[in-house]
Amino acid sequence: MPNLARPNASDVSQTSNRSRDVVPGSGICARCVDGCTGNCEVFQSTFRGREVIYPSPYGELTAGGNKDYPVDYSHFNIQGYALGAEGLPEGAVGTPDNTLFTMVNTEVTLGTTHTEKLKMPIISGALGSTEVARASWEHFAAGAAISGVVLTCGENVCGMDPDATDDLVVIDLARVRKDARMDDKSKSKRIDWLHSILTALQSYKKMFGCEVLTLDSLAALYALSTFENPRGELFYFFEQLRDLDITSFLISEMPTDREVFGLYGVEDFLADGIIHLNVEKHEHTANLYVSVNKMRKTNHDRGFFPLIYNRDYGFEIITVD
Ligand code: SF4
Repeated sequence: MPNLARPNASDVSQTSNRSRDVVPGSGICARCVDGCTGNCEVFQSTFRGREVIYPSPYGELTAGGNKDYPVDYSHFNIQGYALGAEGLPEGAVGTPDNTLFTMVNTEVTLGTTHTEKLKMPIISGALGSTEVARASWEHFAAGAAISGVVLTCGENVCGMDPDATDDLVVIDLARVRKDARMDDKSKSKRIDWLHSILTALQSYKKMFGCEVLTLDSLAALYALSTFENPRGELFYFFEQLRDLDITSFLISEMPTDREVFGLYGVEDFLADGIIHLNVEKHEHTANLYVSVNKMRKTNHDRGFFPLIYNRDYGFEIITVD
């Protein structure tokens, strides 16, 4: 079977080859020249990394399968001939006048406890969980309702609806993980969680204009991911978070036996600031202390101060003066 896709250049990723002659297997130009200012996927990914494989502009398009099959549905013509008819009134004999397609009853009822009647047994492909789904949901739903068919949508479409949330958007990592693993076929598939979460954050930023991100916790993210090169991948993750232009708080639990702020020992170098919360036990009480260990470009106090919580006044830091 030949390669049915055209690798290395696609309108979906807004990429193109410089040359008109392209090697079909690789998609590389027959003459891939040094200093090319072309726009193929290989070229772009040297600057933009994995970003280039994503259809763009993100959230504003629905991408189609970009394959050129040697045989497709348009090559099939069903030239059937109606032989006999079923469901006619008792005693009626089928004639060209009483066996028209428009007379066929295609109604079905789905469900047992909660039933749904359809005009036709048609269920749409699921709308994705993107801005496109959010923006077009009502139109699709109206069309499906008028036609009497079922419209399905991705489970996160409601997460893209600004009216469904207040000022807080919660992405549940455990739920994301469970959903991704629900399909048995995907169990062996390696999911790039860092990239998936960054993509989700980009769309939330665009949708809600988020100012602050709290990731709770880094350990949960690590439990999802298998890092081949933790330093490199975390560096990329932190850089991408900075590019989002939002203030990010990454919660990291410190092991009891070591003074490190992250599992891989690089998180404190990569972060612009470290706010350290600590619990100290005195006899029968446990007190909370807070300190700012690091805050780039800031001349800050390095004391360790008691942090107290009062139901009426909220959190309060007790300083010596
Ligand atoms: S880098 Fe330039 S010359 Fe090489 S395959 Fe891509 S578009 Fe063609």
